[in-house]
Amino acid sequence: MSIFKNYIAGEWVGASDGKTIENINPATGEVIGYFASATAEDTKRAIAAAKEALPKWAALPGPSRAAVLDKAGQLIAARADELAETLTREEGKTLAEAKAEVMRARDIFKYYAGEGFRAGGDVIPANTPDTLLFTKREALGVIAVITPWNFPIAIPAWKIAPALAYGNTVVFKPASLVPHTALKLVEILIEAGLPPGVINLVVGSGSAVGNTLAESKEIAGLSFTGSYAVGVKIYEKTARNLVRTQLEMGGKNPTIVLNDANIPLAVDIAVRGGFGLTGQACTATSRVIVEEKVADAFTQALVEAARNLKVGNGLESGVQMGPAVSAEQLQTDLEYVGIGKGEGAKLLVGGEPIPAGAGFFIRPTVFEDVEPGMRIAQEEIFGPVIGVIRAKDFDDAVAKANGIGFGLSASIVTNDLNKAMRFADRIEAGVVKVNEPTTGVALQAPFGGFKGSSANTFKEQGRAAMEFYTRTKTVYVKYG
Ligand code: NAD
Repeated sequence: MSIFKNYIAGEWVGASDGKTIENINPATGEVIGYFASATAEDTKRAIAAAKEALPKWAALPGPSRAAVLDKAGQLIAARADELAETLTREEGKTLAEAKAEVMRARDIFKYYAGEGFRAGGDVIPANTPDTLLFTKREALGVIAVITPWNFPIAIPAWKIAPALAYGNTVVFKPASLVPHTALKLVEILIEAGLPPGVINLVVGSGSAVGNTLAESKEIAGLSFTGSYAVGVKIYEKTARNLVRTQLEMGGKNPTIVLNDANIPLAVDIAVRGGFGLTGQACTATSRVIVEEKVADAFTQALVEAARNLKVGNGLESGVQMGPAVSAEQLQTDLEYVGIGKGEGAKLLVGGEPIPAGAGFFIRPTVFEDVEPGMRIAQEEIFGPVIGVIRAKDFDDAVAKANGIGFGLSASIVTNDLNKAMRFADRIEAGVVKVNEPTTGVALQAPFGGFKGSSANTFKEQGRAAMEFYTRTKTVYVKYG
């Protein structure tokens, strides 16, 4: 089996110490590739290459950079089936989910290609006559991009595309579980015409590659998506060097179901939000907070739906939910099932592994009698596990939804406009949905969490990305 390489300073290179990491298919347990595992030294070389490439790339007119992004979008579309299959093979989500993610990445590149024509500054009224007062946006500098495994192409795309559009250069560290999709994205960017050094790929461990990026004084910005524990460690390091930092982290996202809700709709929303993507989304629904009167009917229907979901290898047709991404993640899911039982929550369905071959499968899992203070109601599990929590009324439901350290996404199922709008006012979450799952966001709209879900600095996606990836000069020109 060949060894896939990193891309540094315009060349594909092995790790300087020759070490590799295995890439494993979570549906079969098979090794599907070996990837060069970059060292701290390799990472420093990548940062230096990005620094060297910066002035030329930043100085290009926006529309010229846009042409490269536009071409990248076209190439993603042309290779969509192959990219989706690669993604499913290493991450496990179903082929349909993978294809949707790939097409989203295509759209992200199209969107930020447009930004190459739009991004600019403002003209501001001056205090004196014959004075032009304006702001001018410029690239921030070298950007470190550190991404998780659960969206192997969309998350890298929504960081790398705006970084490049606004004239920055990038050192990209994907999660070690999904290096192949990352490598293909980089291949596409090279083919689209990115000059050497503008994008650098460093696959490797958090301790070697991630730490080197976080500690570097040469980077101007670091955009991270991943767990709270790692995000906070990174922030402590970047703060020392005053590196602009964006952290998007975990969630424990609630869906509230009110008495007036359409129950089949509420169940569909909970299933899509909680079991879609095997529950491995930062915006996944892990708590459903239901008003007493409809709690039994809702829970019964949810259990039925969970039982009927077809779980299997995401490459096979008809499969609705793939495996956990790794043996470790499956172990975590199962441990939390044990914790939930120990805390006195009642397991209604699922909770056990599916012993089919060597893959890392777990059945969709529903607990009831979940109390808000339980660990399964407070901690991110990152698997297909929904806890049903009962609420006395709307106020109690919102209080329970907010009684947590995270604040990424939240939804409500109701036909009562007044309550829906009051929910939008009072919920502590960066993404608020009415009659929609907590998952799924529009790439042209700002995205980011509150509380422990985010560094609460800069939003991602849409035009909000410009704030993170540019810096502003204020220019006074006296021409009188
Ligand atoms: P993780 O935090 O373990 O890893 C994320 C990235 O950080 C990986 O590339 C990893 O190699 C790297 N890393 C690990 N240790 C590091 C260190 N010491 N220094 C620098 N980098 C280091 O997260 P994961 O398991 O890959 O992804 C799952 C997590 O991501 C969940 O908590 C999920 O909620 C979160 N997530 C958040 C969002 C969001 O937008 N809020 C989106 C997707 C996933």
